[in-house]
Amino acid sequence: MSDRDAPPRRVERTDEEWRERLSPEEYRIAREGGTERAFTGAYWNTHAPGRYRCVCCGTALFSSEDKYDSGTGWPSFSDVLDPRVVATREDRSFAMRRTEVLCAVCDAHLGHLFPDGPPPTGLRYCLNSAALELDPDASVGDDTGNGPGASL
Ligand SMILES: [Zn+2]
Repeated sequence: MSDRDAPPRRVERTDEEWRERLSPEEYRIAREGGTERAFTGAYWNTHAPGRYRCVCCGTALFSSEDKYDSGTGWPSFSDVLDPRVVATREDRSFAMRRTEVLCAVCDAHLGHLFPDGPPPTGLRYCLNSAALELDPDASVGDDTGNGPGASL
């Protein structure tokens, strides 16, 4: 790792501080490495344009432009917004050898990375909705007229 790969900033808090800021489900997944059940999260079937931020520190991590339907029931992305803010490490839990995906700014657990994504990257960032927060991009939406009065 060179300095070039370092995240732009660091956010560090105690477990008590995270517990106060997050819902129990968000804490279980983002701070304790949990996984939400497939097809239950807020974003597995979301197609709205925008950026997905870390639920813990607010850093923009993934773009809706890289989101695709993986059929797994978890929000899946083929690429990251900025490689400096998304970290990976080997995860040998549950007798499996997987690659864990983390927020490089605050070390939040986001999900896992698999090598079966679509081209050109061939990557599948399989994430938990509870670790993410969609920041909708109104300027990109041209299909439904996302004005203030528009209903969902
Ligand atoms: Zn974070």
